[in-house]
Amino acid sequence: MVLSPKLINLLLIAIGLIFVVLSVRPTISMRKANPTGQWLLLLTLLICFIAGYSVQILFLLANQQPLSSNETMLNTILFLGGLFVFAMVHFTRQSLAKLQHAKAQAKYDAAHDSLTKLPNRYHLSDYLQQLLTKAERQPERDFSLLLLDFKNFKQININLNHDIGDQLLIALAQRLSQQPYHDCSARLGGDKFAVIVPFCDHDKLDKYANTLSQRLSQSLCIQGLDFSLSCAMGIACYPSSADTAEILIRHADVALYQAKRSGKRYTLYSPDFHTQQLANFNQYAKLVQALAANQFEVYYHPLLYSHDQSLYGVEALIRWRLPNGKLLTSDDIIPFAEQTSLMSDISRWVLEQALCDYHGWYQQGYRFQLQINLSVRDLEDASFYPFLTAQLRRYPIPAQQLVLEITESAPITDLATLQQQLNHLHQLGVKISIDDFGTGYSSLTLLAQIPFDQIKIDQAFITDKTARYHPLIQTIRFIGHQYQVPVIAEGIESQEDAENMRIMGCDILQGYWFARPMAAASLEGWIKRHALLQQSYVR
Ligand code: C2E
Ligand code: MG
Ligand code: MG
Repeated sequence: MVLSPKLINLLLIAIGLIFVVLSVRPTISMRKANPTGQWLLLLTLLICFIAGYSVQILFLLANQQPLSSNETMLNTILFLGGLFVFAMVHFTRQSLAKLQHAKAQAKYDAAHDSLTKLPNRYHLSDYLQQLLTKAERQPERDFSLLLLDFKNFKQININLNHDIGDQLLIALAQRLSQQPYHDCSARLGGDKFAVIVPFCDHDKLDKYANTLSQRLSQSLCIQGLDFSLSCAMGIACYPSSADTAEILIRHADVALYQAKRSGKRYTLYSPDFHTQQLANFNQYAKLVQALAANQFEVYYHPLLYSHDQSLYGVEALIRWRLPNGKLLTSDDIIPFAEQTSLMSDISRWVLEQALCDYHGWYQQGYRFQLQINLSVRDLEDASFYPFLTAQLRRYPIPAQQLVLEITESAPITDLATLQQQLNHLHQLGVKISIDDFGTGYSSLTLLAQIPFDQIKIDQAFITDKTARYHPLIQTIRFIGHQYQVPVIAEGIESQEDAENMRIMGCDILQGYWFARPMAAASLEGWIKRHALLQQSYVR
């Protein structure tokens, strides 16, 4: 079938018209999405085009004359014009859609953490602001902000790898967002997370915080390694703790710091925390500087067998040499460091330094035990074992020569990790000592829960000049011997103390009566002098 020129012209204009008509809807939707004057202008032009094309069609239908080449050209231009308008409108719509998607993505990225996809600090502040505005209108709408910080996370990142750290954070974030009854969960950076819950009631908060802590500490398997991370929480309530978003976050942070310090699962904000915190922060800042400036030293305090006063070992004790030469004891270091992640850095520094010193003595032929103090916090950190084994490779000494003294100056919050680490260390041959036994948080049940090779009786029992602690000392000695481990009496300040402790059955003695803690450089001389004295004592 051959089409007549008129029919071809009619088809050209009709198709052009269809293109123009098809451009109307996308233009309307673009105008809705972005209601500016230019879209209205385009719509008006499109309507004019539609009218123009329609008139041209009617004109063609009515015209009986053969078409001139100019008219055919005009109709072809009208067809192409329709196609052009259609293409332009569609391309513009696609570009705008991409632009809007990119804008939405940028907005999402600005409000979310890229690793865990949880809302970030900005989003949390915004959300808190919205809650505050609502609560101003409806005063019964109280809520609480919980800040969480995972213990020893930094060590995992340092000692394992960041990839494991990232995967752990993702898994923890998932757990956090699946937790029921919460309004919003967010990651504030590092291993710090936040949760908002729609209540302030202390009983409810207690239940919530305990359940959340249990859920988060359930074991996680990443790259074949099992992790069980415990967290500390700080809670601030609206309106009792603060009335602006910024202060609420700050006060939850203050409460979190207190929870970490005290080893509690969570702490509710109290205004009393501020004064105490300021003093601690100052000391903390000084300790960070001291560690960086290498101002710490390790002193060594001898331990002697009670039966012949021969050398059993030395205990490494940290000291702080100020630039003016003054020497500070661990009282100015440990209580502050123990409340922060700095404790782990300090313990590792002492361990490394003491192993280095001891390796030198061992190579010279000296054989005695090296006792190093560790905090429970150090051993609740799963990366401690790899650190220690690496140090033992660096300073090769038999693991049996090393005794790790665990002081329960902080409560055990993660018994499972502690047990796991101590069992690994024990299998390696390292000895474990329970320091300051009888006071602090230590309980008798601990003896059945962890492996140990020594008990050190708390020196408060020995330095007390009355005999009221003697039954306790004898009981601890009895317990130690039931477990077939030596019992150490520390704080021996007189010959009488030494004699009493020997009679009461303590196997090893330590105290100022025999020697004061001394610098590494003085130890060799002391050992030699003591050996001579001891020979005369035995004779
Ligand atoms: P500790 O492990 O029970 O160490 C014994 C403390 O008693 C030492 O104090 C020692 O100097 C002191 N002492 C020993 N004999 C006597 C005595 O006859 N009379 C008196 N009055 N005191 C005696 P220091 O060095 O101030 O250490 C105190 C505590 O700080 C230690 O108690 C230990 O728990 C902790 N500590 C010390 N160095 C470190 C360390 O490197 N890491 C950790 N985690 N803790 C440490
Ligand atoms: Mg000790
Ligand atoms: Mg002690």
